Amino acid sequence: MSETLFSRIINRELPADIVYEDDEILAFRDINPQAPVHVLIVPKIEIATVNDLESEHAELIGKMVLAAKQVAIQEGIAQDGYRLVFNCNKHGCQLVFHIHMHLLGGKQLRGSAA
Ligand code: 5GP
Repeated sequence: MSETLFSRIINRELPADIVYEDDEILAFRDINPQAPVHVLIVPKIEIATVNDLESEHAELIGKMVLAAKQVAIQEGIAQDGYRLVFNCNKHGCQLVFHIHMHLLGGKQLRGSAA
């Protein structure tokens, strides 16, 4: 698989504003934030899209949600609430083909989907 932008951030070849890291996950601020808090939760292993997830990744995805919760607490938005989003392929407007979860919050978000 060709190296993605996010692999280069994980490998510290590109800078990012990192807010959380553990053995399996890196979280950093989105370069083009859509909300006052916009953090990308990214697994360190390369998985292109949600369509490429297998049952062996179930624990990792759970850990991504727990990492998002941790970041939401750190950012002071947990109580008011936030949104977690995975975009997949063209109709989902996925731009970077290394799965990532968007954590969005810090203001009243609109709607629940497109
Ligand atoms: P997608 O549309 O694939 O779900 O989201 C990709 C996200 O990555 C976008 O929100 C975009 O702003 C963000 N992004 C793209 N390039 C960079 C970058 O170089 N650094 C950071 N921190 N975010 C990026």
